This record gives sequence, structure tokens and C-alpha cells, in this order.
Amino acid sequence: MGIVVQKYGGSSVADAEAVKRVARRIVEAKKAGNDVVVAVSAMGDTTDDLLEKAQAVSPLPPARELDMLLTAGERISMALVAMAISDLGYSARSFTGSQAGVITDSVHGKAKIIDVTPGRITTALEEGHIVIVAGFQGVSQDTKEITTLGRGGTDTTAVALAAALQADVCEIYTDVDGVFTADPRIVPTARKLDRVTYEEMLEMAANGAKILHLRCVEYARRFNIPIHVRSSFSKLDGTIVSGSIDDPAPEEGTMEQAIIAGVAHDRSEAKITVTGVPDKIGEAARIFVALAEAQINLDMIVQNVSEAATNRTDISFTLPHTDGQTAMKTLAALKDEIGFESLLYDDRVGKVSLIGAGMRSHPGVTAKFFSAIAEAGVNLGMISTSEIRISVVVADVDVDAAVIATHTAFDLDADDVEAVVYGGTGR
Ligand code: ASP
Ligand code: MG
Repeated sequence: MGIVVQKYGGSSVADAEAVKRVARRIVEAKKAGNDVVVAVSAMGDTTDDLLEKAQAVSPLPPARELDMLLTAGERISMALVAMAISDLGYSARSFTGSQAGVITDSVHGKAKIIDVTPGRITTALEEGHIVIVAGFQGVSQDTKEITTLGRGGTDTTAVALAAALQADVCEIYTDVDGVFTADPRIVPTARKLDRVTYEEMLEMAANGAKILHLRCVEYARRFNIPIHVRSSFSKLDGTIVSGSIDDPAPEEGTMEQAIIAGVAHDRSEAKITVTGVPDKIGEAARIFVALAEAQINLDMIVQNVSEAATNRTDISFTLPHTDGQTAMKTLAALKDEIGFESLLYDDRVGKVSLIGAGMRSHPGVTAKFFSAIAEAGVNLGMISTSEIRISVVVADVDVDAAVIATHTAFDLDADDVEAVVYGGTGR
């Protein structure tokens, strides 16, 4: 008998009907002879609603209390799912993250899982129960406080449980049929991928694909847990995330690795330009040390050639727009020390990324990508690349056009419209 770990996102447990539907699905897995462990997210938009409530009483709520509040969302759904299962004649036990042994560091709001001690889960399984775990939360090893793992963290809870329990598979149930070659809300002809490697999925998640939490993919890769991303609204097979781009080539006669896995986009970044930075050794370092000390994660960085007349240059970078104000304040405080001219802030930008392991061995991918964007009448801002990704920054109003043009240029369109978005949120 194998252990199956399943995760249900907020849109899959949005209301009573949805909870009952999920309960039936969980019971099916149990009836098929598996030990079943389930990680659940908060119902629908509960987490956003709780955040709003916090804002209403305090503009800057203490991080500890915010975690106390937010973890309540998952506690509601775990108990309701357990009740619905018991109504079907099966017995379920719900556990908070802390009870389930999800041990984290002590960083409120974005804690990292450092260990999982699933003693209570294995005991409950041995006693024949279905186990339901509140996602997105744990308990700090040092401070013993309740923590949350960051938005979308239930994916990571599920994979961490799968690793600790040595589960056969981690099934992530969501409101689309799997991982698509682009966001079906923008490209209705996007195709479902049957399989994608960890590295490609990491690049997609890191560059805006919301289907899986980035840390969950990192975790799955580290522990070699296959993830099956599939819809809780249909019975179709979804996408298997497994294997590495460095695995030996498939045997002869099997399909060649696709050149492109997909096109991701991200509207959550902003761009800051520091103009007139004196072109002296150490100036860029000063800027980026200050940003690092403010705990700001940067994405793309571009430094222009300095103008001969002034010996000054512009430095631009992108960052999450939620960090925009902190970054601007941090840099403004350095204006005299560094002697730059001005700071420009632009959050009307978006990033479009082309991802695929095959681009390592196929020349011309960049040329085709940039040509497609140009033909769509879209201007490129910044550019960055990794071994298996090319990203460009464009104006936010141009993101859709750039995604559609790129998707078509690389022949990714399906013949029919096949992407169905069952829920509302894409999670
Ligand atoms: N409920 C949390 C969120 O909305 C965690 C999750 O959904 O995975 O971010
Ligand atoms: Mg959610």
C-alpha cells in the first residue's frame, strides 16, 4: 500500500459544495487502497480577506500576529474537509502545521521548512484515518511561534510532507488541467504539457507562472519527488513535473525533447533607474549593498555605457513592486554619498520569459523570440538570460501581445482550444 499526498488549493475548496466534492475525491484515493495525506489551502479568497481585516485595524501589523491570523484560514478548511469526509463514512483527522510536525525557521511571513517530523501523521495513518493538514504554516524551531510559508505555500507543505513520508507521488490539485505552455487566460490555445523537468518548472515558477509555488518545486527537486499537477474539477491526467534537463537523452524512437516548454509572464515587478551615477569603482557595489541590507531581492540589472562628456552612467534594475518603496527610500538616503543625479520609479512594466531546455542546443531561439516581439509592435526594455531561459521587460500594456506572439512563433498553439480554467484564481 502506497502513500499518496494530495494538495487542494483555495479555489478547489471555495465553498461547501467544493469541500464536499474534494472530500469525495479524497475518499476515492483511499478506496483505491492508498494511505492518503492531504494538504489544504484556505477557502477561496480567505487569505486576502484576512489580510484586509488586518489592514483595517493596523497599517503595519506585527508579523507574529499576522501569521496567527492567516493560519486560521487553513484551519477552517482542514476541519471542514475532515467533516465532509466523515459524512461519507470515512474517518479523517485534521492537524495544524505545527501538530503535523512542519518545523520552520523563525521568519514570519516567509518561513522556510527545515524539518518535518510526521509522527502524529504516521500514527493516524496506522489507525486507518485519512490525514488532513493545514497548508502554508509551521512552527519555528527556535521561537516556538507559529509561522507561515509565504503566499501559495500550501504547495510546499504538500511536497515537504510527501518527502518526509516517502510518498509515491505528490498530487497538486488546482483549477486548471495542468501546466500549460502559457497562461490560458491570455492564450486560449495554450497546450497542456504532459511532462516538464524540475529545472524548466523552476524557471516558469520563478518567472511568473503561478501554477506552482517556487519553493515547492525546489523542494521536490531536492528530494526527487514527482509532482502531478492536475485539476480537481476533472479526471484528466495533468502534468508530471520530474526529471532533470541533464538526464541522459531518451532512447531512440522516443520523442525528442521539446525545444520550448512555455512562455511565462510576470506583472509583479517594478523598475528603478538610478541616473547619473559617477562612473567610479565601487559605486555600483554601494548601491547594491544598500539594497541587500534592506533585504531586497533584485531580478534584472542593466548598466549603460557611461557618457564620455560627463563620465556618468545609468543603472536600472527590476525588483518586486512590493519592495519598491523600501528600495526608493534606501537609495534616496544615499543620494549625496554616491552623488547620483536622480531616481526613477516605473511599475508599469511586465516581464515575458521564454523557457525550454532545448534552447541550449538550438541556435536562433533568441532571434526568433525578439523578432516575434518586434512584429507584435512591442518595444524591449531590459533583457536577461539563463541557460534555459530568455526574459525581456516590456511595458505592462504590451505583456499580452508579447506572450501571444511568442507562443505562436514557437508553434506552441494547440489546434483546438483545450485549456479550461475551472476556478477563478488559477490556484
Ligand atoms: N492560503 C495561502 C495563500 O492564499 C496559501 C496557499 O494558498 O497556498 O497564499
Ligand atoms: Mg490561496
